[in-house]
Amino acid sequence: MSAHQLIITQRAELLTVLCGGGSAEPLECVLDLLLAWEVLVWEDYLNVRVAEKPLCSNIRQLLDVVHDKGEDACSHFLAAINQVLPEEQKAGLCFGNGCAAVGKNRPDTATLMLLVDRPVLVTKLRDNIDGALNVLLTTGCFTIQDCDGVQLPVYTPSQQVRRLLDQVTFKGETAAKTLLQYLEQAEPTKPTSEDKENHLSADCLLYQKKLRSSVAAQSLFLSTYGGAGHFSLDDIYTDGLLEVVDDSGETTTLGLEDVVGPIGTLNEDADTILLSGEAGSGKSTLLQRLHLLWAREALLTNTFLLFPFSCRKLNAEHRELSLKELLFLHCCWPDRSQDEVFQFILDHPHMVLFTFDGLDEFKQGFRDEERHCCPTKPVPIPVLLFNLLQGTLMKGILKVVTSRPQAVGPSLKRYLRKEVHLKGFSPSGINSFVKKHHSDPAMARRVIDSLQVNTVLLGLCHIPVFCWIVTKCHQELLGGQDGIPQTITDVYLLVLQHFFQRKSSLSQGALGKAWLEEHLDTVLKLGQLALEGLEASCYVFSGYELQRNGLTEQDVSMGFLIFCNDLSVTDCKHYEFLHITLQCFFAALYVVLNRNNNRSAISRLFQSQHRQLSGLSQRCLGHCIDPSVEEEESHVAETPNLQITAQFVSGLLSQRHHSLLLDCCPTAVRERKFKQVVKSLSKGMQRHFKSIPRPVEGEKKSMHAMPSFVWLIKCIYEMQDKSIAQDAVAKLDVEHLKLTYCNIGPVECTALAYVLKHLRNPVGLQLDNNSVGDVGVEQLLPCLHICHSLYLRNNNISDEGIRKLLEKGAKCESFQKIALFNNKLTDACTQHFACLLKTKQNFLALRLGNNNITSQGAEQLAEGLSYNQSLQFLGLWGNKIGDRGAEALANALKNSTTLIWLSLVDNGVGNAGACALAKLISQSKTLDELWLNKNCISRDGVECLIEALKMNTSVKEIWLRGNNLSPEEEEELSKQESRLTF
Ligand code: ADP
Repeated sequence: MSAHQLIITQRAELLTVLCGGGSAEPLECVLDLLLAWEVLVWEDYLNVRVAEKPLCSNIRQLLDVVHDKGEDACSHFLAAINQVLPEEQKAGLCFGNGCAAVGKNRPDTATLMLLVDRPVLVTKLRDNIDGALNVLLTTGCFTIQDCDGVQLPVYTPSQQVRRLLDQVTFKGETAAKTLLQYLEQAEPTKPTSEDKENHLSADCLLYQKKLRSSVAAQSLFLSTYGGAGHFSLDDIYTDGLLEVVDDSGETTTLGLEDVVGPIGTLNEDADTILLSGEAGSGKSTLLQRLHLLWAREALLTNTFLLFPFSCRKLNAEHRELSLKELLFLHCCWPDRSQDEVFQFILDHPHMVLFTFDGLDEFKQGFRDEERHCCPTKPVPIPVLLFNLLQGTLMKGILKVVTSRPQAVGPSLKRYLRKEVHLKGFSPSGINSFVKKHHSDPAMARRVIDSLQVNTVLLGLCHIPVFCWIVTKCHQELLGGQDGIPQTITDVYLLVLQHFFQRKSSLSQGALGKAWLEEHLDTVLKLGQLALEGLEASCYVFSGYELQRNGLTEQDVSMGFLIFCNDLSVTDCKHYEFLHITLQCFFAALYVVLNRNNNRSAISRLFQSQHRQLSGLSQRCLGHCIDPSVEEEESHVAETPNLQITAQFVSGLLSQRHHSLLLDCCPTAVRERKFKQVVKSLSKGMQRHFKSIPRPVEGEKKSMHAMPSFVWLIKCIYEMQDKSIAQDAVAKLDVEHLKLTYCNIGPVECTALAYVLKHLRNPVGLQLDNNSVGDVGVEQLLPCLHICHSLYLRNNNISDEGIRKLLEKGAKCESFQKIALFNNKLTDACTQHFACLLKTKQNFLALRLGNNNITSQGAEQLAEGLSYNQSLQFLGLWGNKIGDRGAEALANALKNSTTLIWLSLVDNGVGNAGACALAKLISQSKTLDELWLNKNCISRDGVECLIEALKMNTSVKEIWLRGNNLSPEEEEELSKQESRLTF
């Protein structure tokens, strides 16, 4: 069959493949070739590539033009398609017998040269756009507007080159000559024999420059802002809270520059730094900031080369690659002296940094099996990655890896140099973010004010991705017809509505009540793509995959999918959801709204955590997964996403959204799914309760929550149904609930309080070592009445949080103990404790160690203590109360008939303080232990204590280690009084 006929008979198929799922790249590559082969003239090209027309009509136009030009043009057209399309898309197409080689003479004008060399130039100029524009600008061939027009961020690098070439052609011969001259100079030249020594470093410097400019270009804009120029990373970046925990469990706050620094190092031999944080806490953005600052030489100045990788994108790399290929193909190609540049990397590992974003999104979980250490031998990507992380390959190069905490197991933990925790925004960070987002200060103020009155929303805003949504959707939020959002499902419905609204106001105005139903088709298609992606740990989709799911250009234009910021060499466009949480939300919408869903989808979704714990080889919702990927390796990455999806499913099925879903899903189906969710949650809770061990005799019945407990509680919260919350804890019969190190922030506090307030009997709630903060404390208030003890050690709480807590605590009869070791408390909170002690005559224990309380604070506390007749334990270890504070406390406690235990360790207490405490000892009938280690008491002070002990029989021990006494004195004094411990 002739080429002419092939084009006619295959017209529909050619149209489909060239549409490439919405990307114009295949068409543009074909056009490059046809121009170079002189099949098309410039006018044809302009007629075919009309920016205002949809892609498919441009393709039809091209088919018509080629068809009209005859057999030769048709065979060239088929040859061009054959050259451009990837193998999998060519299946089933026939390309005929090929075409005669194009062997024309070199043209004699520069403009024609640009046309003939166009396909090569597109590749060559891709990494040199800045340089070329610079030359064109300085020689006066281009204006600034021309440059801006070329560099619009909506264009891919290849598209930018084509705009540049088109503009040069349009400007004429001088511009074309200038560009060609520039390219000649930029062409690699043969190294001269002189100064070979300097040659290496010159090439490395050139490579560094290229890498810096490529990294800078990739990190300039935040993807959630769709690359819109007015929201560059510089404009919007807000510092998040960064912490490391050292060997002794002490937490230190870090700055951005410390991520790669020595603070918090646990294992000097390891090179991998883990940056962990929940979904949306800002890990990728932080890494992006590091990249940008490095590229500008503003941070990491000792790092000569920085190679950024995205695990999402590495998933799509199916070739076996050597380390060298990985670096050069995935990050930046050296224009010259490849071997030298690579040798430099091998020789100077301490000057190189690798970053891997989203290890939790890598298809395979970390494996510590296959050893590989050769930097030039190709191996599968997982082997390469895991050996880099372990340090078998390229020992000495620091690597920063981001991940959600759940995805990092013990086998990887062994290889970590340190773990930096990203905890999201602080309250002041939220305000600063909102102000940066809204250039109008009045609008920023309104948003901030509205957050202050809705602390649930404020709690959500600690997680940057929620903060972004809330700020972005401020109009819907402030308009607030449907009530103020309470749950993350509410917030994501807001964003859904916002995007649809944005589109429809362009065409027909405001959204109607049935907006979800109107857009159901788009939602379901995106939902299916999202769910299938989650199941297969796939977060990047090709245009082809979009097309397979029936997604049209219009669906894509809604804005939920964005072009992937592609660092790799491929020019094919890829898409990803704006954020992983949005992918989970669409997956949840699909689970809830899809009528064909099989019945087990929901129950399997809710079993994901259980599967992970028990290691069962059973696939969740599996129907589109690559069977070659082994189970154990992949579900580590899936579980957190499926949990977020389950949370959204719970939220969508709540009664609150009943009317929205009414016409999208038959009531009977919705109710069936609702019941399934409730049943799954109840089963999940029962499993936890069964895990509670029997209490040891004499000890309290206690439950140490498993990781998924908090998730189940969050699902229940999403449902916003009091009776479900009540039923969930109806059978929970414990005295102590331990939730330490569970990543509990304000959002989790809201959910915990919502459920725990229904407990039948008071519990001790232990939340030590989380990120509760002041906002979280406020969220806990609804369940304070059911807490007899509250443990909030190391939780970033300040005086303001305490003020609110104690105001409520004073009214809660059961509330008797509080532990606040290692927070940010100062003298400003002690008046509130004084008030509590005065009013609550059943309060038993107050522990305020390791805060910033001075003598003034102690005096205020003393004022309250003098009226209290219930306190048994008072801990002030590691403050600065000094002699004055000790005197005030001793004086106030003199008449206490309840005090059993007092700690003033490490408080700068001297002899005056000790003598005052001696008076307390001489009068007390209840004091059991007094802790005075690490103070500055000397012999006189101790002698006072000994005198007092002569009149006291209740005290069992006074601890005096680390005071101003010589070993001889210690020995002598302990002989005088055996109850002293030195
Ligand atoms: P993660 O990688 O932890 O899932 P991302 O870095 O993707 O989180 O953050 C999600 C979104 O939240 C970003 O696209 C951005 O809109 C916003 N965001 C996150 N961190 C910051 C930050 N430090 N400053 C400003 N916005 C941020």
